[in-house]
Amino acid sequence: MIGSKPILIVAQNEGGRLAPVVFEGAAAARRLTGGASGGVAAVVTGPPGTEAVAKELWSVGVADVYVAEHTLLAEPRPESHALAIAAAVRQADPSLILVGQTFLGRDLAPYLAAMLEVGVIMNALELRHDSSGATEVVCPIYGGAVQASYHVSASPPSVVGFQPATRSTEERASGSRGRILSVDPGLGEFKDKVKLVERPLRSGPRLEEAKVVVSGGVGLGDAKNYQGIEELAEVLGGLPGASRAIVDLGWATRAQQVGLTGARVSPDLYVAVGISGASQHLAGMSMSKVIVAVNNDPKAPIFKYARYGVTLDCLEFLPAFTSECRKLKGTS
Ligand SMILES: Cc1cc2nc3c(=O)[nH]c(=O)nc-3n(C[C@H](O)[C@H](O)[C@H](O)COP(=O)(O)OP(=O)(O)OC[C@H]3O[C@@H](n4cnc5c(N)ncnc54)[C@H](O)[C@@H]3O)c2cc1C
Repeated sequence: MIGSKPILIVAQNEGGRLAPVVFEGAAAARRLTGGASGGVAAVVTGPPGTEAVAKELWSVGVADVYVAEHTLLAEPRPESHALAIAAAVRQADPSLILVGQTFLGRDLAPYLAAMLEVGVIMNALELRHDSSGATEVVCPIYGGAVQASYHVSASPPSVVGFQPATRSTEERASGSRGRILSVDPGLGEFKDKVKLVERPLRSGPRLEEAKVVVSGGVGLGDAKNYQGIEELAEVLGGLPGASRAIVDLGWATRAQQVGLTGARVSPDLYVAVGISGASQHLAGMSMSKVIVAVNNDPKAPIFKYARYGVTLDCLEFLPAFTSECRKLKGTS
């Protein structure tokens, strides 16, 4: 709690499941409030039946959970969700509003801030108190080359967007029961401006949640060599990622991009193959526990961050290493 006001987490409900980023937000808010009772509140929006999802938030130290239910909230449209969340903000009177930057969250945070006529800060890496007790929000700027600190007051509350997987969820909190508070989402007059023809949410495993990520860069030399990245990722039980340069070249998809403008990952193992280690790439993977870099230039910046380095041609390394891993797993 900052003063007597709680921090409000926008708890994104993805088809009846809370997005993993919600638990990161809860942990960050708990740290900031020092675990004060009633210090963390949340708002969950969704179709009728969403209340069942809301109760899970009690296990991560959230006290009051504001629930806005409406059939229009079944679809991930920022316009309708922002209206419902704004109604909850008016009820909760928070000191800060935290939004995880999922596909919906990235649009939702600025939309909500505009609707509430308050400030918005995106890409937050860290939240802490400054010496005056105000909240300090640390974010990368200039393509990740520099970090900026924003000092925000509790009134009016700022909206802060944060990247998934930039902080640990830590232990679960006590799990004491809080309150469920119903919110009128105010969608009576809402007019559909966009007709959804395809659900934009990705299905399947996400890079942000992977324990192993194997990413390829320009050093692969050709689109067809990205297959080697996919094979090694599969053998290691992980997911394939990519530098933005090869996404721009069309060798990998946008969803596979790791970095400042892509996914932020923090796996146990990150293998960077033919990637130089530009600051914008590092912004998305330097939180990985163990980094292995494969690059035939021993002066490549990525080696400064790697625990293990391989200075070979990646096209020689990939098939040989993948084959050894298969042998070790007994799958060759
Ligand atoms: C605003 C902004 C946002 C950005 N966001 C992102 C982002 O989110 N993610 C991101 O990745 N980038 C991002 N970038 C781009 C970033 O600056 C770099 O251009 C990009 O990361 C470089 O990709 P790369 O390492 O694959 O290519 P390069 O920098 O060209 O590096 C290729 C590396 O491969 C090595 N190599 C060459 N041949 C071989 C071989 N045969 N075997 C082994 N190694 C070899 C080379 O030594 C070199 O180090 C952003 C840039 C800007 C300006």
